[in-house]
Amino acid sequence: MPSASLIWLPVSQLKILIPRDQIAQRVAAMGADITRDFMGQTVMFVGVLKGAAIFLSDLTRHVELDSTFDFIGVSSYGNRPSPAQELASGWDSTGEVRLTKDVDQSMKDRNVILVEDILDTGLTLSYLKKILLAHQPKALRIATLLDKPSRRKQPIEAEYVGFKIPDEFVVGYGLDYAEKYRNLPDICVVPRAG
Ligand code: 5GP
Repeated sequence: MPSASLIWLPVSQLKILIPRDQIAQRVAAMGADITRDFMGQTVMFVGVLKGAAIFLSDLTRHVELDSTFDFIGVSSYGNRPSPAQELASGWDSTGEVRLTKDVDQSMKDRNVILVEDILDTGLTLSYLKKILLAHQPKALRIATLLDKPSRRKQPIEAEYVGFKIPDEFVVGYGLDYAEKYRNLPDICVVPRAG
């Protein structure tokens, strides 16, 4: 399932897809939407490690509500290539997901907002949504910075979407390529070979 190979480039040569000022503007607007939707209530943010860490920390600072945050960890089973193979083959989700870190706080009767970096095939968030709903939250919403609707394999949508993007492999602002590039302030495209 891996798409065409990705090419390693020095940071200075990566093409910027979404510059930092646009990200900041959109994240602030998403925070305002959440504030409006949950006015007078408390909210628990649950970020998906590691990619959503930067997005969660920026987003929550634009939410003017009594809130807490927590993190959940997932990893893909099976066909996902190792970082070394990723270099050669590119990367794609396999659909087999497992929990590597559960949340620390109870979600029962809480307003939970699951915060993800990117909604791609939808397999990860479908799996996480099922798990979180079993904890009987009062409400469960999904906030994703990026959405690649053309890649969807599971019929899942996020209530809060930062940017819809085409089918490109992106890095930066928390998103990695074999653990690199997470600290880039802009969202950049890693080119595919050929
Ligand atoms: P899904 O299960 O929706 O296919 O994939 C979600 C996960 O795949 C994301 O949390 C992210 O880790 C990874 N992913 C999907 N597309 C991209 C991409 O373009 N760049 C990076 N860095 N990760 C991606």
